[in-house]
Amino acid sequence: MSQIKSSILDTIGNTPVVKINKLAPEGVNLFVKLEAFNPMGSVKDRLALGVIEAAERDGSLRPGQTIVEATSGNTGIGLAMVCAQKGYPLVVTMADSFSVERRKLMRFLGAKVVLTPAAQKGSGMVSKARELAKEHGWFMSRQFENPANVEIHSRTTAREILRDFGQDGLDFWVTGFGTGGTLTGVARVLRKESPATRIVVAEPQTAAMMQSGQVQDFNVDGSAAESHPAFNPHPMQGWSPDFISDIAHQSMKNGFIDHTTSVAGPDAISAAKELAREEGIFCGISGGATFAAARQVAETAPKGSKILAMLPDTGERYLSTPLFEDVAVEMTDEELALSESTPGVRFDVPLPHPVAAPTLVATLTAK
Ligand code: PMP
Repeated sequence: MSQIKSSILDTIGNTPVVKINKLAPEGVNLFVKLEAFNPMGSVKDRLALGVIEAAERDGSLRPGQTIVEATSGNTGIGLAMVCAQKGYPLVVTMADSFSVERRKLMRFLGAKVVLTPAAQKGSGMVSKARELAKEHGWFMSRQFENPANVEIHSRTTAREILRDFGQDGLDFWVTGFGTGGTLTGVARVLRKESPATRIVVAEPQTAAMMQSGQVQDFNVDGSAAESHPAFNPHPMQGWSPDFISDIAHQSMKNGFIDHTTSVAGPDAISAAKELAREEGIFCGISGGATFAAARQVAETAPKGSKILAMLPDTGERYLSTPLFEDVAVEMTDEELALSESTPGVRFDVPLPHPVAAPTLVATLTAK
């Protein structure tokens, strides 16, 4: 049967689950779900399609109306793709501390990016988006409160996991949370249809808000009233903003979370590097963090357990961040030594015929 898609939107979801071969402890089956396989490289492509199509259905989004959203990047990139395809203008508010790649990607896809001061954290981005929506009559997709965010994960991510592991075939499901859409959307389905699956939530060590036991206050519209007292900055972009969202809070209230754990920033980064170098699996910092948490679970899990970690995005989004900090641009000493181990095509050996260089350039550019 033909596999031709009717638009890019049909390529969202159905991401692969891949077995970990070298980095799993003996006797434990560790798997990762690779959200980088979505068209714009992250789990948030699902949410982008989910919230826009829900708003089209209920009439809250008018044809051609501008959409505005506060995002650490991946939601904006997903929304920019969906808006480009469907013909909606998009304005994104984003703290200026998030990676430059993200801003450029959104602008490349035709969106406008309004930066907010990093000192005003995630809640600053959200209040700017709200202010803009009110002033200009734009549609705000409200990813932190929108039930369509949860719904899309129940309809797609959770179904894919059940399809791949079957009922009660998965022992532990490990995730972090940003909006909590992945967490609550998947957890509520697993609770019903795979009740033996233990749900594990990982948080940054410096922002262990759920584990702190301190409550999050909410406004009447469901948005977080203020920064959570246990929040401190961390390098896992997309994880744990400075508040527990209404959506993430639903998992706490409903008892969906069996275990919480925390991961230190450097451990997240080294786990992402290990995945890349030992398994050829390329993910971002939050993916490294989730994988590190899954390995913690694996250490004490009974033999034969099946553990699945969500890897939310691609590592390519982090070229300017600490993930790539020790990756050189120029040749390292080892690479220089390799260059010098054979006589030809070296920077330190003059070309045999001085006229050869321009001829070569002309030949190459003529092709
Ligand atoms: N990791 C990354 C890189 C993300 O962009 C996000 C989304 N903010 C998450 C994890 C968390 O996903 P969710 O919003 O569904 O909780």
